[in-house]
Amino acid sequence: MLYLAVLILLTIFLNLRLKRMLDNRLLAKNKEPEGLKKQYENLDSQNKSLKAGNDGLEKLAGETIALYDITKDICKTLDEDKIFSIFKSNIDKYMNALDCRFIKSEKDVIASNDETVLPLSVNNKKIGYLSARGILKGEEDKFQILGQQFLLGIRRSLLYQKVQELAITDNLTKVFTRRHFLEKFNEELERSKRLNLKLTFLMIDIDHFKGFNDRYGHLVGDAIIREISKTIKENIRQIDFIGRYGGEELSVVLSETDKEQARFAAERIRKAVEAGEISLYDERLKATVSIGISTFPQDSRDAKELIDKADQALYLAKGSGRNKACAYGAQGK
Ligand code: GH3
Ligand code: MG
Ligand code: MG
Repeated sequence: MLYLAVLILLTIFLNLRLKRMLDNRLLAKNKEPEGLKKQYENLDSQNKSLKAGNDGLEKLAGETIALYDITKDICKTLDEDKIFSIFKSNIDKYMNALDCRFIKSEKDVIASNDETVLPLSVNNKKIGYLSARGILKGEEDKFQILGQQFLLGIRRSLLYQKVQELAITDNLTKVFTRRHFLEKFNEELERSKRLNLKLTFLMIDIDHFKGFNDRYGHLVGDAIIREISKTIKENIRQIDFIGRYGGEELSVVLSETDKEQARFAAERIRKAVEAGEISLYDERLKATVSIGISTFPQDSRDAKELIDKADQALYLAKGSGRNKACAYGAQGK
């Protein structure tokens, strides 16, 4: 009897155990789709954040390419106006910016609601403003960043101008730069005053030079300036010196030389240029120069005045038909 009771209890216990196991299995089976759904939702949100990251990266890449393009193009020139026109044509490709202007003076800045104005400074000195209309909210930063590339171009150009100013020889002609020539001129004038020596200044200008540029282009024009500088150099003495005074104007100091001697020297230069032929490609070009002469101490004791008087004499040489050398205070070839 006891056995029977134990057997029955054992059977009941085993049945209950079996039922619980089956229930647990069933519960786990029911929970599976819910787990998958969670996993899917997780993946979806990861996917969304990856996509957002990707969009951000694409935008960043676009902006970096824009920066690269603008910087690359701007670096091709050292001319301020060209730098701006490159910047303007590039900025139109990457953002909405109407009437973009480079303003040099504060009084020309138009303050209006629609205008975005970016002040530009180099070494704490204001050099101007970039302005544009119609810039969308949220794109001001872009305008600022692209504007910095423009400023970089301008800084490069200013630096180049400074280096040029400090240079002793002119790149094209290899004669003294104007600044260095004027320094040497003043030194030589002081020496002449101290030692009671005469000194002559020549201002030499190429005749009808614009015509060469117009007909053959600026590169040929440059080559003519270079060749004429060379001819002048070959026709002065070791103690004399030559500088590039302006575009196609060359200046010479003839040390220890009075007006009469200077007339000979100027004539020698004029004739040498006249006789020379400038061979370029298959062209053989001929050019002439006009020369103005002024002498220390006869015409002035001051460098600036001597330059002025040589300029006046040059004007006379041009007026009397060009290809002439005229001395201040007297006229003639
Ligand atoms: P003139 O006989 O009266 O001197 O006539 P011009 O044509 O020589 O005189 P003008 O002063 O009117 O012209 C000078 C020209 O020289 C103007 C400018 O375009 C050009 N020029 C100035 N600097 C340079 C330069 O570095 N290279 C070249 N190629 N041209 C220059
Ligand atoms: Mg000139
Ligand atoms: Mg000229």
